[in-house]
Amino acid sequence: MTAGRAAADAFALLSDESRVNILRAVAMAQYEQAPSNAGFEPLSFSEIYDRVDVDNTSKLSYHLGELTGTYLRKHDGGYSFTHAGDRIVRFILAENFRRPADIGSIETSGTCLYCGETTLEARLDEQYFVVRCPTCDRPVTGYTLTPAQARARSGETLLESLKRKQGMEFGLVQAEICPECAGRMDAAVHSVEELTPLEDVPVSHFTLHDCESCRRRYSGPLPFAAAFRTASIAFYWERGVDLLGTGWWECYRFLRDGCWTSERVGSDPVEYRVVLRHEDAELRLVLDDDARTVRTERVRTRSGDRSST
Ligand SMILES: [Zn+2]
Ligand SMILES: [Zn+2]
Repeated sequence: MTAGRAAADAFALLSDESRVNILRAVAMAQYEQAPSNAGFEPLSFSEIYDRVDVDNTSKLSYHLGELTGTYLRKHDGGYSFTHAGDRIVRFILAENFRRPADIGSIETSGTCLYCGETTLEARLDEQYFVVRCPTCDRPVTGYTLTPAQARARSGETLLESLKRKQGMEFGLVQAEICPECAGRMDAAVHSVEELTPLEDVPVSHFTLHDCESCRRRYSGPLPFAAAFRTASIAFYWERGVDLLGTGWWECYRFLRDGCWTSERVGSDPVEYRVVLRHEDAELRLVLDDDARTVRTERVRTRSGDRSST
């Protein structure tokens, strides 16, 4: 069976309202169970029958038979989710198949990478979250926003959730773990000339991270890839800066003011040095051509203290 056929068959199983309602009923019944360390109790046939509007038990039996294997597992005591069932039912319950509600226009401070403007505007553009610069009228940064995320929050609280989600996800990417599917990610460093030419942008290199399973791609300036790693997050945290709660449109300030820089320092092997500066301290990271950390070094620029890992 081709991968396309297998996927089409799996999703065809859901083209029936009763089956979707069965998955919802199992999830809601699990949610209503008393808290337990032992995980969820399977839901019995009769419990499902009580919760789902189907004509008779043989109809329910038929639908459960269809769902079992792909979305449900059958045990002695009843039914529980497979991995795919658990993933799809969260998507269904969160109603993330709908359009996100309009978030309006949210004024936010940050830095336009192109012109340096610090008062920016966040809004949705074709369902995607975008921060735009009103001065040069360009998108400064963008990210995915889920309908559930937009429904649960607004204004500054919504921006907080976006910053933190993007920060945590980009952190996972740096550990070569795909935030979408947990598959393996490959990374490569590219000079800005190899990609879409950007005028007047203080970035010499970008990283592209690709998931070999779901093909999701993440890209960012090389200093961002270095910054969202444990050594850098800890470096800033110790100095009162919560990098994981800092939006990309806020981090662009570090590129424009020269606090975060990157340069190619070796060709055999190819190596890049990223320097992240904070007051009188620097964190220097050396990355290889696959954007893996080769070594890090903390330098106190005034006293000359230095420690390497
Ligand atoms: Zn601008
Ligand atoms: Zn993936």
